[in-house]
Amino acid sequence: SAPPLGHSVIPIVNKLQDIFAQLGSQSTIELPQVAVVGSQSSGKSSVLEALVGRDFLPRGSEICTRRPLVLQLLQTKRKPDGTEEEYGEFLHLPGKRFFDFSEIRREIQAETEREAGGNKGVSDKQIRLKIFSPNVLDITLVDLPGITKVPVGDQPSDIEARIRTMIMSYIRTPSCLILAVTPANSDLANSDALQIAGNADPDGHRTIGIITKLDIMDRGTDARNLLLGKVIPLRLGYVGVVNRSQEDIMLNRSIKDALVAEEKFFRSRPVYNGLADRCGVPQLAKKLNQILVQHIKTVLPGLKSRISSTLVSVAKEHASYGEITESKAGQGALLLNILSKYSEAFSSMVEGKNEEMSTL
Ligand code: GDP
Ligand code: MG
Repeated sequence: SAPPLGHSVIPIVNKLQDIFAQLGSQSTIELPQVAVVGSQSSGKSSVLEALVGRDFLPRGSEICTRRPLVLQLLQTKRKPDGTEEEYGEFLHLPGKRFFDFSEIRREIQAETEREAGGNKGVSDKQIRLKIFSPNVLDITLVDLPGITKVPVGDQPSDIEARIRTMIMSYIRTPSCLILAVTPANSDLANSDALQIAGNADPDGHRTIGIITKLDIMDRGTDARNLLLGKVIPLRLGYVGVVNRSQEDIMLNRSIKDALVAEEKFFRSRPVYNGLADRCGVPQLAKKLNQILVQHIKTVLPGLKSRISSTLVSVAKEHASYGEITESKAGQGALLLNILSKYSEAFSSMVEGKNEEMSTL
């Protein structure tokens, strides 16, 4: 089944890509990259993993993500017998397919140590991992080291500045969506995530606020005002999540169980009633999906004119044959059919009739 991220976007992108393939041109829709930022141990890797729906990232109470991990999701065709094959491949180990996702995690750790040493060192040299699956959207996610203030282990004295520079090099790109992660048990006004996201995206057009660790807030406190944007407003708003705790990780609790537990958490707390659209990983995925659909809407007119000009040149080519042979007539009908399908998809997207596009 489709993971949370892309659920409603995959069908649209596939449809448009089918249309282009039939017209003989290559895939066309480039989706924005998504990067997570925040202080160390705020839950960045946990959020990314939950969005992808697979367990494969190193997570923990100490510094775990010590090199940028560029995670490219690539959609593959389902096998003819209907079975699904999902695997990972690292740039540094070409041709080696990892079918076991816990082995992927071990390799990320090993490769981190090869470059950044075994003693908490940080390096800006990327680890590049592709995940091939029939269930994903073609999108690139970036897991980044967290902002840290006090050097430990092999870290240089200017570790904070170095990490900030590294993060900025990713989120400065105007198309990069920023997931700014702040734990609920820290002060939002001091949030490293919001601060650095604000530097890269001052208007807040591409920053989503994520509040993690709602389950371990002080007794008697809750995140209602944070989620409502009453503490620090954010144009695209906030989503609160409950990821797995360190204990859950040690007990090997699955992502699926964690999602069930998260849902139960929100259901059992009346204070979050009425905030359902801001609570939980599935809502975060929905928000991201809507942003991606919006992105597709903005690039569609350009795609449409490309399709039209392709059609025009095909028609000219037909005319140059002098007569329309049966097979050429068939091709023309096919193209017309394609164009009308495309127009339907296009108009319903533009009119936003179907916000989620899931029926396309
Ligand atoms: P990162 O350093 O920002 O990538 O953070 P990680 O995803 O590695 O998580 C850091 C630690 O916080 C891990 O021990 C996680 O289990 C824990 N953690 C992350 N999110 C939550 C949460 O929502 N609730 C609880 N209780 N623990 C969390
Ligand atoms: Mg991490």
